Amino acid sequence: MPEPIVFMLDVAPAGAAEPASGWASTVHRVAPGEPSLFATDLAATRGDGVFETLGVLDGCAQAVDAHFWRLANSAELLELPAPNLEQWRVAMHIAGDALPHDRQGGIKLALSRGVEGGDRPTGWLIATVADDDFRNRTEGWSVVTLDRGYRHDLSAHAPWLLPGAKTLSYAVNMAALREAERRGADNAIFVSSDGYVMEAPQSTVLLRRGDTLVTPKTDIGILPGTTQLSAFALAQEWGLATEDRLVPADELLDSDGVWLLSSVKLATPITAVDGHPIAVDRELSDRLNAALLARRE
Ligand code: PLP
Repeated sequence: MPEPIVFMLDVAPAGAAEPASGWASTVHRVAPGEPSLFATDLAATRGDGVFETLGVLDGCAQAVDAHFWRLANSAELLELPAPNLEQWRVAMHIAGDALPHDRQGGIKLALSRGVEGGDRPTGWLIATVADDDFRNRTEGWSVVTLDRGYRHDLSAHAPWLLPGAKTLSYAVNMAALREAERRGADNAIFVSSDGYVMEAPQSTVLLRRGDTLVTPKTDIGILPGTTQLSAFALAQEWGLATEDRLVPADELLDSDGVWLLSSVKLATPITAVDGHPIAVDRELSDRLNAALLARRE
């Protein structure tokens, strides 16, 4: 499997003019085996930063504007300097071009508060060929529901918990995946302490109820999903209704299909929730994945 390719960025402030040498001159490919990040970077010492992971098809990053919107929103929530999206766009094209064009892959963009005591953020990108046969898209996953420990109205009451920001602190999300595995499941769905579906550790939840696709509304402390946004646009083209609202956890059991959506894995149909088999809509699953794979922007 090819090694991930790392690029460091000389981060420019938002609105800064392009240097005479071009934005590309601010993007440095790190040689294999070379160190890339200082141990004193606040990303490493505190997880104090934000990131995005974009899917890449044929060397072309997907849903770039939606990811850039979320990157900027996460940075604002953490009170980080706004990213210069023009610079990031050039960097992302360089990273996408470095990947083989006949394979699926991903690009991770990360922006941290910088080295402790320093005066500017650190930015970097990691381009990776997907080490995956994507059987999730056809075979599906079993999930367990896990208590997130917050009420659904967290955003209004505790904004310092950074609801809606995609921060570099994913230790809790990874712990939830290990707990799911311990319980014999493939993945997890977080439920608020007052019983509403939130999100999975690395994906958005989508449900089909009759001719309506439903996703949990995002002001309950979850990330706005870029794949969910694409799925809703497709559903509307196909004549399905779409809704974002509070979703009581019971609805996971009696829906006409449940999926986890994310940028690289795309749409994974859920086959069982807490050990109970649920309805699987293979036709819509295949249609969604085919349409998501056909995107080229
Ligand atoms: N929710 C969480 C917590 C995530 O980490 C992710 C993806 O990384 C998502 C949802 C899905 O977002 P996207 O569809 O933009 O990949």
